[in-house]
Amino acid sequence: MNCWTGQEKRTSLVIWLVLIQIPSALAASNWVDERTVGPFTYHADFPLGQHQQLWNEMQDLHRDLAEILNLGPLREPIHFFVFDKKSTYQAYMKRYFPQVPRKRAIFIKGRGSGNVFVYHNREFDIDVRHEGTHALLHACLPLVPLWLDEGLAEYFEVSKEKRLYGNGHLTKTKIEARFNRHINISLLEQIDKLSEMGETQYRHAWAAVHFMLHYSPETRQILVTFFANLAAQQPPGRLSQHYKMLLPNPSDSISKHFRDWQRPPP
Ligand SMILES: [Zn+2]
Repeated sequence: MNCWTGQEKRTSLVIWLVLIQIPSALAASNWVDERTVGPFTYHADFPLGQHQQLWNEMQDLHRDLAEILNLGPLREPIHFFVFDKKSTYQAYMKRYFPQVPRKRAIFIKGRGSGNVFVYHNREFDIDVRHEGTHALLHACLPLVPLWLDEGLAEYFEVSKEKRLYGNGHLTKTKIEARFNRHINISLLEQIDKLSEMGETQYRHAWAAVHFMLHYSPETRQILVTFFANLAAQQPPGRLSQHYKMLLPNPSDSISKHFRDWQRPPP
């Protein structure tokens, strides 16, 4: 999940291109199918109907994200540009966004719109949910700390029934917790470049989000308040400091959370 190496791996990247006119790229292209489902408008070079379930799921993801984090309304439209073939996707990106690094899927924040570019691959659904989460967050908030942006995208990239117990990060995180390899929110907060996010940082960012959402109502409330302050353009403070005020040792609590985390018996 490293963003800068391994082009075939799932990658993720948020790029802000305030000077780029995304709609001109859109108008210049000849899409086979276009449709709007909930807050997203999809443009594709193949019939979109084959993924209708995923598009419906994305509507639910928007509702869940807004509800869980108590986010306000979207402040800009979100466009998905969906390609059948990798080669077409690559040619499109090279033509319209030559300065953007080559990624398997990418979210580009344009002037007045969020834009996701993705092509058919083995993890297409995951790419759509992951980049769609970035797009939703950035459509509601003036900014999102990089590690938290990625942690939330990792959390919401799996289908809803896998969010709590089925994310691919869980097994390794539980092993780390058993051996007391601590996850430190302060360290995550120091990340300011995507190049500093390797596989471990992605996993720890996901784990911190899972902990904040599921350890207790109070840990979730801290995250909700943090986003409320961001949305209101008030200084949100540091999450690590907020958790230190709530818990004697947040890293210990994160380890305990994952040691104890079990799917309840049916
Ligand atoms: Zn990402």
